[in-house]
Amino acid sequence: MVLITGKTKLLGVIGHPVEHSLSPVMHNAALAQLVVGEASRREDIAHLGLDYVYLPFPIAPENLEIAIAGFAAIGVIGFNVTIPHKQAIMPLVSEITPLAQAIGAVNTVSRQNNQWVGTNTDIEGFIAPLQTTYQQDWSQKVAVILGNGGAARAVVAGCHQLGFAKIHVVGRNVQRLQEFANSWNNSPISENLQVHHWEELPKLIPQANLLVNTTPIGMYPKVDESPLSVEEIANLPKGAIAYDLIYIPKPTQFLKQAEKQGAIAIDGLEMLVQQGVAALKIWLQQEIVPVEVMRQTLQNHLGLS
Ligand code: NAP
Repeated sequence: MVLITGKTKLLGVIGHPVEHSLSPVMHNAALAQLVVGEASRREDIAHLGLDYVYLPFPIAPENLEIAIAGFAAIGVIGFNVTIPHKQAIMPLVSEITPLAQAIGAVNTVSRQNNQWVGTNTDIEGFIAPLQTTYQQDWSQKVAVILGNGGAARAVVAGCHQLGFAKIHVVGRNVQRLQEFANSWNNSPISENLQVHHWEELPKLIPQANLLVNTTPIGMYPKVDESPLSVEEIANLPKGAIAYDLIYIPKPTQFLKQAEKQGAIAIDGLEMLVQQGVAALKIWLQQEIVPVEVMRQTLQNHLGLS
């Protein structure tokens, strides 16, 4: 348990709705672990600056501005941002990191020098399992990304950061695809990025070294669905990486099919953990956070272990 004292500092997540968020479970477990770890050496937890609690804040869109002003007034240290506020928060912060600017969305805000600074830790979350598990040179590799919504933006930026030679984004709505492509026009990312209609998938899959599902197809409760047919996925090269951003079920139908083809599967849970790890490091201004506690807590909470 996190011990709440008169000096407890506030962290949290804003969204509408926010009840479904797994972040409070994950972050409070990490904060409790940090407190226990430090308290075993020193009794005065608050003095060590580890006296934090992480709360869910349901904030309707029309209350966003006043809520953020209120956060400043009561000394909130930082917060995560989820749907529908990831873009709307941008004009309300004083500074936006280049990464968040490139993606066009903020998922983490911290208080620095009495000002709000917005960043996006989804990129770090996305690339962490690729970097730690499969150390490779990506400069000759091709990424194929299914879907062109909010999460796809972090995935595109992550693939660019890793140095992919080509990044193909596949979507079903021509207008939204074009808007997606246009949104990168002033960024170096546009040089490696191509957008395609879903019908072009059969020619793209055989080229894919990394195939990422950013659509919600296959997410609980529709666990028998997959963004690709068995015939389509049969053309995925052996040894390719199939990455699904979905974490319930774990694995998805898409990942099961891909593994049968000899692909390496990565599910969305580690991305969720690592975006949280990156946010906690920013708020606590320390490099060491209890990653394993965060991972294990989520797995237990989701009934995965
Ligand atoms: P979003 O902004 O709504 O985007 C969803 C995308 O999927 C859109 O491009 C949408 O196309 C496409 N899509 C939806 N249904 C489709 C269908 N039947 N066929 C083809 N395309 C379809 O959602 P998001 O925020 O990007 O989230 C997407 C998924 O990623 C969710 O499952 C979410 O849980 C997961 N996610 C996981 C993490 C993590 O940490 N693991 C982080 C973020 C998101 P249209 O534009 O044409 O509707």
